[in-house]
Amino acid sequence: MQKSKVTKTPDKAEEKNAETEKRIPKCPQLLRGMKDILPESQKHWNYVRKIVEELAEDYTYERIDTPILEETSLFARSVGENTDIVEKEMFSFEDKGGKKVSLRPENTAGIARAYIEHGMLDRPQPVRFFYWGPFFRYDRPQAGRYRQFNQFGFEAIGDSNPIIDAQLIVMCQSLYQTIGIPVVTQINSVGCRECRREYEQLLTDYLSSRKKFLCEDCKRRLTKNTLRILDCKEKDCKEILADAPHIVDHLDEECKAHFVKVLEYLDEADITYQLNPFLVRGLDYYTKTTFEIWPEKEEGSQSALGGGGRYDDLVEVLGGRPTPACGFAGGIERLIISMREKEIVIPPPEPPDVFVAQLGESAKKKALRLVEDLRQKGIRAASNFSTEGLKYQLSVAAKLKVRFSLILGQKEMLDKTILLRDMEGGSQEVVDYNKVYDELKKRMEKVKAIIKNGNNHSEE
Ligand code: AMP
Repeated sequence: MQKSKVTKTPDKAEEKNAETEKRIPKCPQLLRGMKDILPESQKHWNYVRKIVEELAEDYTYERIDTPILEETSLFARSVGENTDIVEKEMFSFEDKGGKKVSLRPENTAGIARAYIEHGMLDRPQPVRFFYWGPFFRYDRPQAGRYRQFNQFGFEAIGDSNPIIDAQLIVMCQSLYQTIGIPVVTQINSVGCRECRREYEQLLTDYLSSRKKFLCEDCKRRLTKNTLRILDCKEKDCKEILADAPHIVDHLDEECKAHFVKVLEYLDEADITYQLNPFLVRGLDYYTKTTFEIWPEKEEGSQSALGGGGRYDDLVEVLGGRPTPACGFAGGIERLIISMREKEIVIPPPEPPDVFVAQLGESAKKKALRLVEDLRQKGIRAASNFSTEGLKYQLSVAAKLKVRFSLILGQKEMLDKTILLRDMEGGSQEVVDYNKVYDELKKRMEKVKAIIKNGNNHSEE
């Protein structure tokens, strides 16, 4: 017997929805691994940026902005053809002129390019840069790992002295401490090209005899990029690595002396660090010092807040004259996640100096002008013109924590006056409209003096 097919007739609402969907396609969704930074999160971002900028200023690192899009070959030559970043993670495409370009996965290469392109070798060395901006890696998204993420960073180009490495580490630790995140520096040395070549051979020999125990990824790395095996998180690989030779035991005299000096300087500066023989970082350009900043008591480089090291060959590899350099990049999203976990309270921004409230159409017009006049004279004036009610406007002023409000109503318009209200206590005075700036300034100065003298103005 043939089964009768029951087809449901769509009701009117369903038909209408389907029709609307046909006419107005669904809003495109956020791409995987991308994030909106909403206004409510901006206070964290602004705070971190302020701390980074202040630190950069203290240590005389100057801001540099390089393009987000660069020639693909820049990253292939610097980060390395056989690294995960270049092999698998770059957003690369041909532009309309047929040039192979990539969204930057990191910034050291771009800055080294800019250093060469603008002839910065002629400036007093080292040239110190800091940056802040978005980077792109087509990685598997997970907590704290995005496809578009933001980094700040510091680069000191043109000085081979180990004190540069040490000072950079001191500076980075200080940044996290200022924000309230306890951190520990993981440090290693990968030596120069020659030491690394010899060590790589030693490691390859050691691992080749144990190849069958390695994970599939590491088997592949064994022929392409052996050092990356040191980073592997697989249990079996880690067990094999426990007895692997350490690069620090195979450094030449110069690289060893450099590393010892960096550690001596760190000891002198009371920096907590841990020697980590597996820390090779995933980029080819590193030489000598490599380091990462980890949150205290965390294991595994996945949780690194940032990392960096020396890259003495990079400028030369890109076509410049031999120029030693050292740098650090910190992940901003990961730092903000740590701040949230630690419930770090962000100091509130300074409130505006005054709130301008108005009642009635003509007062509103005059207030619009007054806000701008005050602002031009250096007084930070806030307002809320979208409502008429004085009570509501004053509640906005209270929320903003302003000390003074100026109130302009019908009566004041006629008398050419304005009400000056002290929001602490609520006392109000009528002042001549033409003298509003002087009167306000006088009271602001008085409050400032009281605060400076450490008195509590509410006791006056
Ligand atoms: P790296 O030079 O790759 O070690 O990156 C430096 C820092 O940037 C890391 O320690 C992270 O804090 C951050 N970072 C790197 N890749 C990502 C990503 N895909 N998503 C979020 N943060 C990242």
